[in-house]
Amino acid sequence: MPPSSLAEAASCLSGHDPESLPVAQAQQFIQQCISPIGGVEKLALRSALGRVLAEDIISPINVPAHDNSAMDGYALRGADLPVNQPAILRIAGSAFAGGGFAGQVNAGECIRIMTGAPMPEGCDTVVPQELVQSATDAAVTIPAGAVRRGDNRRLLGEDLRAGSPALLKGRTLRPADLGLIASLGIAEVPVRRKLRVAFFSTGDELRSLGQPLEAGCVYDSNRYTLYGMLARLGCEMLDMGVVRDDPAALEAALRSACENADVVITSGGVSVGEADYTKKIMAQLGEVMFWKIAMRPGRPLAFGRITSNGRSAWLFGLPGNPVAVMVSFYFFARVALLRMMGAGDALLFLQRAAVQAAIRKKPGRTEYQRGILSHDAQGRPQVRITGSQGSGILRSMSEANCMVVLQHESGNVAAGDMVDVLPFEGLI
Ligand code: AMP
Ligand code: MG
Repeated sequence: MPPSSLAEAASCLSGHDPESLPVAQAQQFIQQCISPIGGVEKLALRSALGRVLAEDIISPINVPAHDNSAMDGYALRGADLPVNQPAILRIAGSAFAGGGFAGQVNAGECIRIMTGAPMPEGCDTVVPQELVQSATDAAVTIPAGAVRRGDNRRLLGEDLRAGSPALLKGRTLRPADLGLIASLGIAEVPVRRKLRVAFFSTGDELRSLGQPLEAGCVYDSNRYTLYGMLARLGCEMLDMGVVRDDPAALEAALRSACENADVVITSGGVSVGEADYTKKIMAQLGEVMFWKIAMRPGRPLAFGRITSNGRSAWLFGLPGNPVAVMVSFYFFARVALLRMMGAGDALLFLQRAAVQAAIRKKPGRTEYQRGILSHDAQGRPQVRITGSQGSGILRSMSEANCMVVLQHESGNVAAGDMVDVLPFEGLI
């Protein structure tokens, strides 16, 4: 994407306070910039689980390939169905799944049939065996009104017609899709290549696992939460470790990341105290917006495109606080990454739940609180906030099973009010 497009997209931000950009504006800006990456690979069906389909799957066959029985019972000609009194039909043969009955079925005859077996020539109705009045090897007695003409028959192509699309490109393949593709006899599918994401943490205070923890230091946890979230999205990851708060080290890391990946995600170094030199370096490498978002947690956010040696990548500069990095990832980066992956179903699905206790909230910013979603005695969704909500308290995230999203305009919330929640199930 040419740099002018970024500036163009920025026009949607005019009129907003750069010190307090609404979440929705930043999300819209990011989405306008992003388009799917190129590159398709063919994978064996099982390996395609969770991957994004690169082309429509057109059914080469009718599914089912022939009219067949939906029940175990007796296939008969609709004209022979009894109207006022039971009818006795002669059993002329049998049809099993995978086989069938090759002969002709005449008036007054029926065929013993199993579920899935092709309908014999001339038959259009199946009487389930539990509805017949009596049966011997030779004949069956069917009560009047047991079934109507056409009952218990599955029609050729009723699941899928040959030549019609079974799945559309952009779909993230789920277990049912693998089965559907297999039912068409297709063993290999074209999927988009994996998105390459390079990420690193910044901060002189950060120590990696295995290192001693000196006074004033903390273990780097962001690379692990990022790893988990990126792995769930199915990205190819390049973990670049911890980068010191040093302009030369940061520049080298950013250059290497953007030469080797489609997307670069950093954490830390974009807050007020540190933003100046980060800004300078990022600005040297491309076009990067430095925002203060009207949200809590996670106010600072950098987004843009950087280039090094002719290779460019999208950049997300996420805040360093462990909860803020997750919130920013879910609400800004995730949809963008899914779009780059070509996924058509990239939206976050918020649900509604009643809050169990009042929550204080200022209008004019979006708040993301960690919550525990459950059901009340009547089975209705309800949510309560987990203990401490500090943006550095990762335990609150770990204990939660959802995030409560208090929207930009909303003020205080009273007990029993409905709020938006983002369940983690399916997300992390
Ligand atoms: P920063 O955004 O760099 O100012 O960092 C904000 C806070 O988050 C500081 O308390 C940092 O120590 C902490 N922090 C930054 N990066 C990480 C990380 N990778 N793991 C754990 N804590 C971090
Ligand atoms: Mg820092």
